[in-house]
Amino acid sequence: MLERFIILGATGDLTARYLLPALVELRQQGLLPDGIWIGVGREAMTNEEFRKSLANRLAEHRPDLPEATREEVVSWLEYRQADVTNHHDLQAIIGQATGQSAVYLALPPAVHEPVLKTLASIPMCQHSRIVIEKPFGQDLASAKRLNGIIRSAFAESTVFRMDHFLGMQTVQNILGLRFGNRVFEYLWNREHIERVEIVWDETVALEGRAGYYDATGALRDMVQNHLLQLLCVVAMEVPVSLDERDFRDRKVDVLRAVRRLTPEEIVTNTTRGRYTAGQIGERRVPSYVEEEGVDPGRGTETFAQVRLFVDNWRWAGVPFVLRTGKALARDRHEVMVVFRPVPHLAFSQGHPRPNYLRLRLNPDRVELGLNLNGLSAPLDQLDQAKLAADFPPQELSAYARLLLDVFEGNAVLSIRGDEAEESWRIVEPIQRAWAEGAVPLLEYPAGSTGPDFKQ
Ligand code: NDP
Repeated sequence: MLERFIILGATGDLTARYLLPALVELRQQGLLPDGIWIGVGREAMTNEEFRKSLANRLAEHRPDLPEATREEVVSWLEYRQADVTNHHDLQAIIGQATGQSAVYLALPPAVHEPVLKTLASIPMCQHSRIVIEKPFGQDLASAKRLNGIIRSAFAESTVFRMDHFLGMQTVQNILGLRFGNRVFEYLWNREHIERVEIVWDETVALEGRAGYYDATGALRDMVQNHLLQLLCVVAMEVPVSLDERDFRDRKVDVLRAVRRLTPEEIVTNTTRGRYTAGQIGERRVPSYVEEEGVDPGRGTETFAQVRLFVDNWRWAGVPFVLRTGKALARDRHEVMVVFRPVPHLAFSQGHPRPNYLRLRLNPDRVELGLNLNGLSAPLDQLDQAKLAADFPPQELSAYARLLLDVFEGNAVLSIRGDEAEESWRIVEPIQRAWAEGAVPLLEYPAGSTGPDFKQ
């Protein structure tokens, strides 16, 4: 039974935007366990000031949640001021607990290592659940160091490396679609699939998050974690079960099979870009480099595209294109599976478009593109029809779902230590080549479809 839930970094954006709303959702559904709720930040504040600030930010981010439940959850939270990199401060907060705690590191990645070291040295914590936000590490070496600290003090099953994409309904639907039906799995391979696109295009720009984003960039913020996790779910072999071990073993298999790009392949298979000033709908967006807190000299990318190959029997030669960008013309969040053309066409007219399966995330929708006889000349011509199913919003948001797993001690949807390292193995050479300028930083106007390039 959890005695305490402690959020380190409780004055930050993540807490107000995702964690608190998730707690309110769980409370609404009667799923929030009893316990003591503590938020930790560096600012000097009374409990009342902290609660008031959280209540305002909750109202701003999730006005749809009932006010009474929002107030109830906020009123339970207590505030502690501490520098969490300071051993004594952290010991004073966590060392008091007598039962099991969950400690959530909603902190900038730069302080994860000192904080984990301190947590590892507090005996009380060794019975706790530790929740770590992404990105896990800044590169392969730092991810290995973090895993080393974790291994020295905690059991892997008590450590939750968060990737909230795994809590999304459509991502879980991919598993149902693939492993709960006969119709797809036999086609789900290089014989029938030509390419897979995994896309997270956003209309939002920096939104005041330079402090985090400018030191991170699109590749580390999105590709290293969220998009590679989507790749795992799309490309994995059929697991024996969906328990912690089987599910995560099969995901690691995929990451291990992803070819590490050579320097030459990085030049031809990756693209990076940065937005300049532009218009998105009614919104005038300043150039990224003019946003407050941005250091233009860093050359941080706001657009990243990489073409990867999964070198195994099922997928050899099939490109997986992973793409994400900020300040783009439209939101496009999807996995697009494009099938190969039929081997012979009996129709005299028309070039059929390829069959496709589109899995849209947020709002959730599954779409299948099928070619059928056209209405005008039924025997000669083909038209493409779209079969679609829309899903209602999921009952629990992704964060609520994953927090519930933390409370229940179920780590199946958290990232295992070896997965995090394998992801860095794929991304690090690209990151290094980009930092060395091997791939040009292309510009694209905000509100466009991204940089002009051929891949
Ligand atoms: P913010 O910069 O908004 O907040 C960071 C928090 O950490 C602040 O409360 C900050 O306190 C606190 N902090 C930093 N250093 C210390 C310290 N030494 N002692 C005590 N507190 C400290 O970042 P976010 O909330 O946006 O992000 C946090 C993590 O969540 C990151 O790993 C990010 O990648 C991840 N994440 C964020 C998402 C988002 O949309 N925001 C989405 C998904 C993941 P202070 O105010 O005093 O600096």
